[in-house]
Amino acid sequence: MIREMMALISKNDPAVGKVIEREFARQRRNIELIASENFVSETVLMTAGTILTNKYAEGYPGRRYYGGCEEVDVVEEIAITRAKELFGAEFVNVQPHSGASANYVAYMVLCQPGDTVLAMKLDHGGHLTHGSTANFSGKYYNIVSYGVTPDTNLIDYDEVLKLAKESKPKMIVAGASAYPRVIDFKKFSEIAHEVGAYLMVDLAHICGLVAAGEHPSPMPYADIVTSTTHKTMRGPRAGFIMTNDESLAKKINSAVFPGAQGGPLMHIIAAKAVAFGEALRPEFKEYQRQIRKNAVALADSLVQYGFDLVSGGTDNHMMLVDLRKFGTTGRDMERLLDLVHITVNKNKIPNDPQVASVTSGIRLGTPAVTTRGFRENDMKKVAELIYLTASAYESNADYIRAEVNKLCEMYPLYD
Ligand SMILES: *Cc1c(COP(=O)(O)O)cnc(C)c1O
Repeated sequence: MIREMMALISKNDPAVGKVIEREFARQRRNIELIASENFVSETVLMTAGTILTNKYAEGYPGRRYYGGCEEVDVVEEIAITRAKELFGAEFVNVQPHSGASANYVAYMVLCQPGDTVLAMKLDHGGHLTHGSTANFSGKYYNIVSYGVTPDTNLIDYDEVLKLAKESKPKMIVAGASAYPRVIDFKKFSEIAHEVGAYLMVDLAHICGLVAAGEHPSPMPYADIVTSTTHKTMRGPRAGFIMTNDESLAKKINSAVFPGAQGGPLMHIIAAKAVAFGEALRPEFKEYQRQIRKNAVALADSLVQYGFDLVSGGTDNHMMLVDLRKFGTTGRDMERLLDLVHITVNKNKIPNDPQVASVTSGIRLGTPAVTTRGFRENDMKKVAELIYLTASAYESNADYIRAEVNKLCEMYPLYD
């Protein structure tokens, strides 16, 4: 089906078709270690490409501003029901177009512009929407930032409490884009309660792990939980919002539409329904367990090859590699790995002496390779290939590319 679709696109629009075919080849050829990426099932992919894209459905099931919504109403309800079951949530809104739009809505619901928000520092693992000055969060809200301790690189909950007492935030944000350890949502909620702040949890990265019980759930503790659906969750590129607080549910709905968005992407909402359905199956639990096993195998092997990992290892699907011992930077390592068909992203390590466009680290994640079928032994091989790239690239480049090719052929993508 994928190939038939691509052939059709190429026939009717060769310029765009060629890009898609080449990108398909790249995804099949490369070992994908970007922690925020994944490969959706063919069902999710096909659903996202359906005629549901044609439908305007502003509003919510049963309360739309357009006629002819009887079918899309059903699919949005399926998505909502499945997400509720998956996360044990009382209320779910599946319309956010992305993780960032879900966060925008959470800020709108829990805060007023100018309010103080306590969130994680970007270069300690936080996300742009957690207070970057280039983002709405940093422009409209008064951001106070917590980080990790210099010795362990774990979230400094004492600092969070101290900053919360000093700054009296309206909201505390927990959740990260580059934090390899378990986040203690209970502790965050105790701190929030102590200072009378709301707790917003951003599950974007670890959503799938939480759905499968491989990371503690924030649902009993957070006022609002936001997430993406395309990272560990392995759904289409999108977002969603959950709460157990009845009084916030209505506010969330009006903040999504008409507050922040117009018409929902019904094809993507249907694809979210499919992904939530897949996540309710026992195989998904097994998949998430394997993501963690693969992450531990990769982390342990990298340490054996002499790499420093931020916090020493991983509890989840990702790790941050500190490259300083190897005399290289995140930028150079990302570029070299690209040349041998291993895809990663440069990433700041806590208190990084390098700027964001250079960095001293790379972030590695196992969701995508685990979807392909990689197991612990394959991760050991990947660690060896990363080590050879960092230590003796010139003399090993051909060998590394050949080994990458072997692994990718052993676990073909969309075959
Ligand atoms: C990826 C991510 C987001 C944003 O998701 P987009 O869909 O890219 O907008 C938000 N928060 C965190 C913690 C993330 O990692």
